[in-house]
Amino acid sequence: MNNNRKQIVVVGGSFGGINAAYELRRKLGRTADITVISKDPVFTFHPSLPWVILGWRDPRAVQIPIQGPLGRKDIRVVHGEVASLDPSKCEVATQTEVFHYDAALIACGADLDYAAIPGLGPVSGFTHSTFTVDEAIRARDALARAMAQESGRIVIGAAPGASCIGPAYELIMMIDTALKRMKKRHRFSLTFLTPEPFIGHFGVDGIGASPRMVQDEFAERCIDTVINAQIVEARPERVVLNDGSEYPYDFSLVIPAFRGAAFVRAVDGLANPKGFVSVNKQLASARFPNIYAAGVAIAIPPPRPTPVPVAVPKTGHMTELMARAAARNIVADMQGGSKEDGLTIPSSCIADAGDTAFYLAADPFLPPRNRVITKRGKWARHLKMAFEKYYMAQIRYDLPPLDFGW
Ligand SMILES: Cc1cc2nc3c(=O)[nH]c(=O)nc-3n(C[C@H](O)[C@H](O)[C@H](O)COP(=O)(O)OP(=O)(O)OC[C@H]3O[C@@H](n4cnc5c(N)ncnc54)[C@H](O)[C@@H]3O)c2cc1C
Repeated sequence: MNNNRKQIVVVGGSFGGINAAYELRRKLGRTADITVISKDPVFTFHPSLPWVILGWRDPRAVQIPIQGPLGRKDIRVVHGEVASLDPSKCEVATQTEVFHYDAALIACGADLDYAAIPGLGPVSGFTHSTFTVDEAIRARDALARAMAQESGRIVIGAAPGASCIGPAYELIMMIDTALKRMKKRHRFSLTFLTPEPFIGHFGVDGIGASPRMVQDEFAERCIDTVINAQIVEARPERVVLNDGSEYPYDFSLVIPAFRGAAFVRAVDGLANPKGFVSVNKQLASARFPNIYAAGVAIAIPPPRPTPVPVAVPKTGHMTELMARAAARNIVADMQGGSKEDGLTIPSSCIADAGDTAFYLAADPFLPPRNRVITKRGKWARHLKMAFEKYYMAQIRYDLPPLDFGW
């Protein structure tokens, strides 16, 4: 390591961390040492995990070891878990090594808060989940067993305070499609339990006509829905809401709420009470100006309160835009120049439904907006499948992000 170079530490090796590291290297050339510390040695393309659950995608196809791609750009990869961050010393530490930083970028996502609800989660509870390949494989096997029965009950839902509810929508529509293909749909009940105040809220108060579109879709697919659902317990064969109602299941998957990573929560003044980094529009910590954050790790208040808490999603697209903006703002701190707003950004995403898909785009992602697109069609499925391939190549070879025309 050359001591004259600036030291930049990126925590997280996923959508945020990898894009930020590439952008930093591009802008700074060899004037900085860039270190990515990641708990996971592989990048997982999470948007494809619902396909893994349906058995439509080989799990190996949605992961890439990050050492090779980042190493080729002279970015050091440390496989380890950050245990502490000391802003007074500008140090980040794993169990075995301490890293000094001139600038740090936190892109460590969130912890999955299964413990908030008794019985929730695939490890110490009874419901399945979809945030890792292991979880998806476990869910895939259980779903296959449930769908092999003559009849059954499927319950898909999200816990109060969940933000990443999109995959739950995708899964219930894909399961509907799969059951129809097996000519068994008429013998299965599909129930959707969501904390959202209306179907298609998505944590952002809806996107244009998307609530009506998704409500019509659910009606046509005979999906029973419970809005403002407050799941309080999961038992071996039933999910329980706060009003005492119970939803028996043969297969259940419930999206948990998130909370910030433990090392972030431990730093006084860095995060909100849930542990998400409080940032200004340039994505710098309000308290520690040489600490930036992007993606799921940051705090974004909901557009308006809801009867049951629903958190704002930070999609992969948003995460990438934020990470690149945060990286450029770090460069501006080091080299001079103006800093950009990394929070007022667009978001586009494609929700697969198995036999069709929804393309939803909003600019900015929270209302009121300058532009909204909501479309439905098989073409959107093909776009999603093609996008997966491109994005894996983008991560592997540092390709430019696809321009969605925003
Ligand atoms: C099933 C599913 C489907 C999705 N579908 C879509 C979609 O269709 N479109 C879309 O735009 N978005 C989608 N998303 C959202 C998208 O995956 C997230 O926006 C994205 O993963 C956020 O990236 P991130 O880098 O902020 O965090 P993460 O992807 O959560 O990555 C966090 C990184 O930090 C590392 N880390 C965590 N803690 C530590 C620590 N203490 N020390 C070191 N490293 C640490 C982890 O190992 C990981 O590398 C989906 C998500 C899921 C789960």
